[in-house]
Amino acid sequence: MAATVLVVEDEAKIRELIRRYLEREGLAVLTTGSGAEALTMLDTHPIDLIVLDLNLPDVSGETVAAEVRLRTPVSTPILMLTAKSTEADRIRGLELGADDYLTKPFSPRELVLRVQAVLRRSGTSHGTTARTSFGDGTVVIDEDRHDLVVRGQPVDLTPTEWSLLIALAGTPGRVYSRVELINRLRGYEFEGYERTVDSHVKNLRHKIELDPHDPTIVETVLGTGYRLGLHRDQ
Ligand code: CA
Repeated sequence: MAATVLVVEDEAKIRELIRRYLEREGLAVLTTGSGAEALTMLDTHPIDLIVLDLNLPDVSGETVAAEVRLRTPVSTPILMLTAKSTEADRIRGLELGADDYLTKPFSPRELVLRVQAVLRRSGTSHGTTARTSFGDGTVVIDEDRHDLVVRGQPVDLTPTEWSLLIALAGTPGRVYSRVELINRLRGYEFEGYERTVDSHVKNLRHKIELDPHDPTIVETVLGTGYRLGLHRDQ
């Protein structure tokens, strides 16, 4: 079944342009110009990804993003659209839980690539990996089922946080630089802001660390990058 994308954009021209390009890729597309209506649609339709304009006339994109995080049991990925282009705004979007960020004006082709990349990251992998356990069962990852259990509790991650954790868990103890992590998170060329990695790591830590300020799972290696601080269980 085709993935369903909800496009939330108040400018009709841009909204219809996005719809046309996404439908051409075989995706099912729902659209609205209202943040409030977007939230209602989330409750009534299965949505795989939200393309969300930050600047909406009623409920702001920030509020919609925060509500999405609260309402959906499995975090629905968000691709944020904005006219703002400073790095601070980009970081803010990512802190709100957006999985990717596109600054207007953007090329429709670029948007399609990003949508496909986010959907790929959030999709279930078709490998045959079994459950992998780390740190004497502290962290258990099931790549096939996209399940994460930390200290016995299931944890929901955004697709980007999930990819980050999977990258680090690839070789526990090995230090991954920010640039390397950016390359692993993006399936295509991306102007990599290293601070965006820090931002995702921060969000990830809040979900999985006992003390996000004294992390033992995703460790910082000063001046170098990050590593998984747990060993892989036999
Ligand atoms: Ca707008």
